[in-house]
Amino acid sequence: MANYLEKEMHTLPVKSNVKPGDIKSQVPLSPPNEGEDMDHIFDQFKRIIIPGMTHWQHPKFFAYFPGNSSYPSVLAEMLTATLAAQCMLWDTSPSAAELEERMMEWLRQMIHLPDDFVGTIQNSASSSTLVAILSAREKFSNFEVNKKGLYAQRKLRVYACEHIHSSIEKAVRIAGLGDENFVPIKSDEHFSLIPSELDNAIQADIEKGYLPICVVSAFGTTSSTAIDPIDAVSDICEKHGLWHHVDAAYSGTALILEKFRTLANGYQRADSLVFNPHKWMFTNFDCSAYFVRDKKTLLRTFTILPEYLKTKTESPVTNYNEWGIQLARRFRALKLWFVIRTFGVDGIRQRIEEHLSYAKWLTAEIKAHPQFELIVEPLFNLVCFRFNPANMSETALNELNADLIERLNASGKLYMTHTKLGGKYTLRMVIGQTYVQKHHVEEAWETIKVMAERLV
Ligand SMILES: *Cc1c(COP(=O)(O)O)cnc(C)c1O
Repeated sequence: MANYLEKEMHTLPVKSNVKPGDIKSQVPLSPPNEGEDMDHIFDQFKRIIIPGMTHWQHPKFFAYFPGNSSYPSVLAEMLTATLAAQCMLWDTSPSAAELEERMMEWLRQMIHLPDDFVGTIQNSASSSTLVAILSAREKFSNFEVNKKGLYAQRKLRVYACEHIHSSIEKAVRIAGLGDENFVPIKSDEHFSLIPSELDNAIQADIEKGYLPICVVSAFGTTSSTAIDPIDAVSDICEKHGLWHHVDAAYSGTALILEKFRTLANGYQRADSLVFNPHKWMFTNFDCSAYFVRDKKTLLRTFTILPEYLKTKTESPVTNYNEWGIQLARRFRALKLWFVIRTFGVDGIRQRIEEHLSYAKWLTAEIKAHPQFELIVEPLFNLVCFRFNPANMSETALNELNADLIERLNASGKLYMTHTKLGGKYTLRMVIGQTYVQKHHVEEAWETIKVMAERLV
C-alpha cells in the first residue's frame, strides 16, 4: 500500500485504459472449490485488478470531485475493518457511538454551524439528502405518510435550482413524491438560483393546492461550484414555513475558511446541511456529515424499535440506527478522529488554501492565453475552461474540446471530466487531490497546451 502511494501509482495511467470485458475475461466463471494461496491472490490483484483501476489518489486526478484519502485515514480504515463492529446501537459499541457524537461536534465547530445542530455520519450525500427530504415529508404531513402512505396526501413539492445535483431528484423519487413534484428553478448568469423565481413557484403551487415541503440550495454545484443565494432562500423558506436543506457536498470543506462562510451566509439558518469529508477533507469514502436542527422530527421519521433491538441503556446515549436509513453501520468516526488529529484544523486549512492557490494560478494562466477561454470565474478550486482558437463555430468548438479531453485522458498523464455550461462543452479541472503539488498542475497545464496545439 505504501509502495503504491509513494511509487507505483505515479508510473501508471491516471485513468484506466482497459476495454470493456478485459477484466472479467481474466476472472474464472465459477468460484474455486478449494482455498487459494494469498501470495497467488495478491499476485493476481497486481496483474489483473490494478490495470483496471483509475487512480483517484494520483496527484494528477483532476476529474469529477476528488475522493480523497490520506495516510491517517487508511490506517483508521484498516483498524475499522479489523474490529469490524456493527455500530447501530450505543450498546453494540459505545466507542463508535460516542466518538461519532464528538466528531460531529468537532466538524460543527470547524464549519461554524450553530450549537443547536446535531450531526451523524451517513454513507453519502445522496443518503443525507434523502434523509432530509424524508424528514420534511413527515414533518409537513404530520407523520401521516409514515403511517398511511402517500395516498391520502396532497402533492408534496420540492424545489431547487435547475443546476442542482441529480441526487436531489433521486431523493424526491425514492421518497415517493414523484419526479413531477421536483420543481427546477431558473438560474442566473452565474448558474445560481434566482430567488424571485423560487418565491413565485412556491406561491403558484400553494394556490394550486400543492403542499410545498422543502427547498434544497447548493453551496458549490457539481458542474461549476456555483453558490445559490442561501440567505435569500432561508428567507423564503422562513416565509412559507419550508424545510431548507443545504447541499454543500463538495465545497462544504471550504466553510472551514472564514471567507467562504461569508459567501454561504444564511446556511446557519438552514434546517439541515450535508458535506462530505470523503471528497475534499482527506477522509476516504464513505464519510458524509449530515447536520440537522430538528432532532425530534429526524428520530420520529426513522425510529422503529422491535424487541430484539431494545437495550437497557436508553437515553442519554445515542443509537445512530435511528438517525437514517441504515441499521448496521460501519465505525466511520474513527477515520475522522485520525485525520483531524493528524492534520490539525490549521493543517487542513493550509492544505485547502494551497489547492485554492493552485487553482488561482491556473486561472491566471488560462486568462493570459489567447487560445484558451475561462468559462466562469472559479469560486473554489474547480477551474472551468475550454480551448478556443479563433474563428470556430460553437458546434465545432464543442467537438474540438470533446476530442481534446479524450486525447488527454487516453494519454494517461492526467484525468479530467467535462460539463456543459450555457451550451458550451466545458473542461472541468478540480485541483483538490490530497497529494497534488504545484508542479503537478504546471505539468498538467503544459500537457493540455501541447495537446491542444496539436489539434489545430
Ligand atoms: C458529489 C456530490 C453529491 C453526491 O455525493 P455522494 O456522497 O456521492 O452521494 C451531491 N451534491 C453535490 C453538490 C456533489 O458535489
